[in-house]
Amino acid sequence: MTSNPDNASCPKLVDRFSFAERTLMQLGLYGFLAIGFYGIHRIDPAWAWGYLAYAFIGFFGGVLSIICSRCPYPYALKTCLFLPVRVVPALYAQRRTPIKIWQTAVLTVFFLSLPVLPLPWLIVHPPLLAGFLALALAVFGTVLLYYCKRCRNRRCPFNRAQGEAG
Ligand code: SF4
Repeated sequence: MTSNPDNASCPKLVDRFSFAERTLMQLGLYGFLAIGFYGIHRIDPAWAWGYLAYAFIGFFGGVLSIICSRCPYPYALKTCLFLPVRVVPALYAQRRTPIKIWQTAVLTVFFLSLPVLPLPWLIVHPPLLAGFLALALAVFGTVLLYYCKRCRNRRCPFNRAQGEAG
C-alpha cells in the first residue's frame, strides 16, 4: 500500500508491505542464500557454514543495527519486508542519529559480498549458479530499483525517494 507524495511525478512512498510483497522478497532473499549455502556445502561444508554465519552476523549485527534500527517501518508503521515485524524492535531501540560513512562502506561491502562469495563453488554447477544469480538479481534489483525509490527510511544511505518527508 502507498500514499500520495507531494510531487505527483515522484513514485508514491510505501506505507505498508503487502503479504505478496513480503512473501516474494523473502522467498528471493532466503532462497538465494539457501542455494548459495547448498552450492558451497556440496563441495566444502565448512565454507558453507562459514558463509551462513557471515550472512547471519552481517544481517543481525550489521544491517539491522545500522539501517533497520533507523527505519520507520518496523517501529511506527508496523510492517517489515524481510522479517516478522516484532524482530527489529525486539533487538534494537530505535535510533535517530545519521548513519556514518564507515557504516555505509561496511554495508556496501557486505551487500556486494553476499552474491559474490559463493560464485567459486557455484560456477561448476550451472543450474545452481543460474538459480542463485536469478534470485540474487531479482532481490537486489527490486530493492534498489523499486523499494529504495519509495522508502520512508530517510536515514538510509541508499534511499532515493523524493517528495514527502519520511
Ligand atoms: S532505502 Fe532501500 S535499502 Fe534503505 S531501508 Fe529503504 S528499501 Fe531498504
